[in-house]
Amino acid sequence: MTFDERLKLTTEAFRNKFGHNPALIAQAPGRVDLMGSHTDYNMGYVLTMSIDRNTWILARPRSDHLVQITSLNLPGESTFLLDDIEHDTLTPWSNYVRGVAKAMQEAGHSLRGFDGLVHSTIPFSSGLSSSAAIEMATVVVFKTLSQLGIDSVTMALLGQQAENQFVGVNSGILDQYSSALGEKGCALLLDCRALTSHTMPVSQTIQPVICDTKARRELTGSEYDERRAQCEEGVRILQQFYPDVAALRDVTMAQFKAHEAELPAVVARRCRFIIEENQRVLDLAEVLPSGDYDRLRALTDASYLGARDLYEIGAPAMEAMMQAMLAGPGVIGARQAGAGFGGCMVAFVEASEVDLFAARVSTHYEQATGITPAVYAVSPAPGAGLLTSVRG
Ligand code: ADP
Ligand code: MG
Repeated sequence: MTFDERLKLTTEAFRNKFGHNPALIAQAPGRVDLMGSHTDYNMGYVLTMSIDRNTWILARPRSDHLVQITSLNLPGESTFLLDDIEHDTLTPWSNYVRGVAKAMQEAGHSLRGFDGLVHSTIPFSSGLSSSAAIEMATVVVFKTLSQLGIDSVTMALLGQQAENQFVGVNSGILDQYSSALGEKGCALLLDCRALTSHTMPVSQTIQPVICDTKARRELTGSEYDERRAQCEEGVRILQQFYPDVAALRDVTMAQFKAHEAELPAVVARRCRFIIEENQRVLDLAEVLPSGDYDRLRALTDASYLGARDLYEIGAPAMEAMMQAMLAGPGVIGARQAGAGFGGCMVAFVEASEVDLFAARVSTHYEQATGITPAVYAVSPAPGAGLLTSVRG
């Protein structure tokens, strides 16, 4: 779908639904981690890129305190009063919007109601952060209609608060940060403790390609929480030797090795992965602009193997996709993306070979698994903001 087609589709749907034109369109991108799985809640680094797949919210202010929200991606619509925000069990996706409204009000902002229509080109629950995108687009709508000055880091924190406290997902800050602060043409090297980032230009010759396994994740939230708990256990034990350690981010490889034997075996595997992966983020950030293909390949190989064997977030579909990606024409390196357990993976491909790569990887993976994947290039796109003002 072209931009113009999407604009037409969504504005017509808005008019049909609400009987008038939208006053604004907020947009917020999805994202992919180029390196740094599960390092965010360990207060470490992530190399993340906001992508040209995004969520729009078309909105028009109301004179009362009602929010009326509908989505072209999921059934159901939801109406709520800003003065009394409850969970919606019938239309659970609206809880992302409700949660943001609640978090913003708790932060002391006075909000205007609106009629809104959501449309996203980000696949759900596959590691590209559609939830952060709908949260960040919601913040943009409220902050624009209510004329609030809220900086991008605060926006990210409000989204995280909504997701953690209202929706009830114990996620780190990475997704929202990336969606709020992304920059066109750049990846972000994010420090998840300091909540600061450096922009890293992505070389035009190295094209990130999303390879969505489309494999249903058999595992749900409990594995994520279990990994977090194992990392925390590692920190508690290592603190006995190094009192300054507050998170795995603070542990050097030498310190870890000196006390590895004192950790339960599974905790040691989890800690090793995080400490190594954190270093790989810094290493890849150096490699990306310089275009050292061998080094990039070594880093992505190690990231994938560590995720599979140490952090144990792999899946048969991911293994099949990894093999297909590594056999693809023009591939430089490939790894998991997002939390693992299926979902999306990311390949770095020579830009000139992307079309052939996509076709070959799709065929190869489908032959191996019987599942039709989605393979598409993504480019670094701007963070959340107003898309445009349209006249009503
Ligand atoms: P991810 O963030 O990896 O895509 P999550 O499970 O965190 O996966 O969030 C996906 C959920 O976010 C969806 O199931 C839905 O509830 C909500 N959501 C995201 N985008 C939209 C949208 N465009 N319309 C309605 N709900 C959405
Ligand atoms: Mg999410």
